[in-house]
Amino acid sequence: MSPRERALLQAAKARLDALDWYPRRVRLRHVRVVTAPWLFRLPWLRRFEGYATWWVVFVRAPLNEVSEDLVTHELCHVWQMQHHPLWMPLSYLVRGYAANPYELEARRAAASWPGQASTGTRG
Ligand SMILES: [Zn+2]
Repeated sequence: MSPRERALLQAAKARLDALDWYPRRVRLRHVRVVTAPWLFRLPWLRRFEGYATWWVVFVRAPLNEVSEDLVTHELCHVWQMQHHPLWMPLSYLVRGYAANPYELEARRAAASWPGQASTGTRG
């Protein structure tokens, strides 16, 4: 893991640790941030700058261009999935994206701390 990847994850965790939305704090074990511009060429991901899975946060940009706000948003999704591993991703199928409570929560998490300027739309 590069120093930049570690710094982004630790900064995002510090911001989430200040929130008490779930019983357990987010765990960084096995969590990686991976630049994957090819992924964001897929039609359903084209509008996003980041996309979280259970263990991997994919980002469009190189890590030195990725903001703490974006990683905080995506790590919040990892945190949600650590508590609701099936329902959280399924909720996007059932409830859609824009008004999804998990999406709104991740936006609040990223706005909960004066971070760097945000860039683009978060997935
Ligand atoms: Zn999101």
